[in-house]
Amino acid sequence: MTSPAPLPPSAPLHIVPPSDGIDLAYAERAAARFLAALGVATTGATTDTPGRMARAYAEMLTPRSFDLTTFPNDENYDELVLARAIPVHSVCEHHMLPFLGTAHVGYLPGQRILGLSKLARVVELFARRPQVQERLTIQIADWLHTHLQPRGVGVVIEAEHLCMTLRGVRSGGTHTISSSLLGTMREDPRSRAEFLALTTSGPSTTSGRHG
Ligand SMILES: [Zn+2]
Repeated sequence: MTSPAPLPPSAPLHIVPPSDGIDLAYAERAAARFLAALGVATTGATTDTPGRMARAYAEMLTPRSFDLTTFPNDENYDELVLARAIPVHSVCEHHMLPFLGTAHVGYLPGQRILGLSKLARVVELFARRPQVQERLTIQIADWLHTHLQPRGVGVVIEAEHLCMTLRGVRSGGTHTISSSLLGTMREDPRSRAEFLALTTSGPSTTSGRHG
């Protein structure tokens, strides 16, 4: 039986986030009118507040581009690769208020592996846009499933939504957990249990897609 020829590193895939064309000047004028409508003065020390608001939101909605290079899994490593506690900074699409937390992203390597730092960039790619936590979780898992073609993928996100903390029910300190498991991570009870044991903690509301 002959072994297959070794696979070369992939050509870097340059990931450029979709841009809907942020118009900072327009955003600043709109922020000034928004504040005026709320009875918030923008004079004196707050003269520059509309511009700061516009730039802050532009930054929150703009992920950095990055190069995704995958490498052949020459050692046939077949155990879980896990990046824990990747920071998540996103904006809820219902209130345009931040939700903040951490993501745990793991995969069971197939023929290729990738640098762990890239997992954080994939999280950022989907976090820096108007989001809901469940969709963010699914998009990260699906993207890795498509681009890395691992045997399995698992994503758990634990986040606090400022729209819940600051308004409405004002349930400060409540964390929402969402998860998405694909492939072997979903189908094999041992892989699934290992991943979830390494990633979940504490009482929370949960939301998951295991499919
Ligand atoms: Zn919200």
